Amino acid sequence: MMAHSSEIKASEQDTQPILPGATLGILGSGQLGRMFAQAASQLGYYVHVFSPEADSPTGQVAHRETIADYDDTRAVAKFSKSVEVVTLEFENISAAATETIARDAPVRPSGQVLHVAQDRLREKRFLQAAGIPVTPFAEITSSEALTSAVEEIGVPAVLKTAAWGYDGKGQAKIATATDAPQAWQSLDCQPAIYEGWVEYEQELSVLVARSTVGEVAVYGPIANQHANHILDLSVYPAPDLSAIAKEAGDIGRAMVEQLDVVGIICIEFFLTADGRLLVNEIAPRPHNSGHLTIEACRTSQFEQQVRAICGLPLGETTALRPAAMVNLLGDLWQTGEPRWQAALADPLVHLHLYGKREARPGRKMGHLTVLADTAEEAVQRAYRARERLTSER
Ligand code: AMP
Repeated sequence: MMAHSSEIKASEQDTQPILPGATLGILGSGQLGRMFAQAASQLGYYVHVFSPEADSPTGQVAHRETIADYDDTRAVAKFSKSVEVVTLEFENISAAATETIARDAPVRPSGQVLHVAQDRLREKRFLQAAGIPVTPFAEITSSEALTSAVEEIGVPAVLKTAAWGYDGKGQAKIATATDAPQAWQSLDCQPAIYEGWVEYEQELSVLVARSTVGEVAVYGPIANQHANHILDLSVYPAPDLSAIAKEAGDIGRAMVEQLDVVGIICIEFFLTADGRLLVNEIAPRPHNSGHLTIEACRTSQFEQQVRAICGLPLGETTALRPAAMVNLLGDLWQTGEPRWQAALADPLVHLHLYGKREARPGRKMGHLTVLADTAEEAVQRAYRARERLTSER
């Protein structure tokens, strides 16, 4: 039977490459969008950013900007008519917005991928159904459910709001059973997920890109360290993770296939002392732990995002040299402007600043990346450069 002409058009549109010179749309205007726009510009694309914020990290470097709410259907529809494809730099975009866009331009990754990733419970259930190991968890929508979760899963544990959480926001640790009711109250008794605490040896991530024609490229594992629930340090290649590199990569590949991802996703893992890999969460976009790919890898995560959503061949992911990245949070501004020249006194230091005017504690303002002969040296030089930002005052 002949396919309907609109079906032919849709499938052709799905695999026809979008070539340099076209305009790419991005939802969200933070640092991930900024670095996406920089990579897209290098490849000769134009970028149109849509977000509610003025003077944003992405808006400062994009070619075109729409400042409107994501639920402003008319603005969203107008935006989607001005671009060939739409990608995103954060996952909390409503289904209504992605459906409006999808009438005019493909959304990559799709609304279905976002639907899974924007709710911690849906995400954990998806992973469980796919046979991917996760920490024991339970849905909490009542005090009774909380009591039975404490009994069945035990303590220590962490309670996280199911929706809208990031960087440890909307989370409360539970050390003893008696802490549990108070912890849920601190989250305003919102629908939550109760997770068994993982005594991990190491946190790590892999990034996986998948293009419109199903080509897949993997980065990682990248070793990550958090401070106050916010990423502090990433190292790649991580020498002591070689034993689990294949397993982590295979899980990443399985995830992009099963979710039918077009774009790039990050999968965050815990590695336990007895060598088990547990998936913590999936981000359907580039990730902070992948920032070091800009200098360290033949193709950065942002260039890969551009190539994947445009249906271009993917680039090589190989690391050129051991690299370390440290985040620069707003806390560094507490006693005045950091001393940039002191950090850059080490010629191996690369400075990235995101153009954010207001430096609040915990806010990601920029990062430093160092490539060196060994991962250890890269880490030490990155730490030292960050310390010099605020020393000698
Ligand atoms: P998340 O927002 O889920 O990425 O959590 C932020 C950070 O909190 C993680 O990177 C871990 O350092 C820590 N964390 C989250 N969930 C757990 C858990 N179940 N067990 C141990 N640490 C956790």
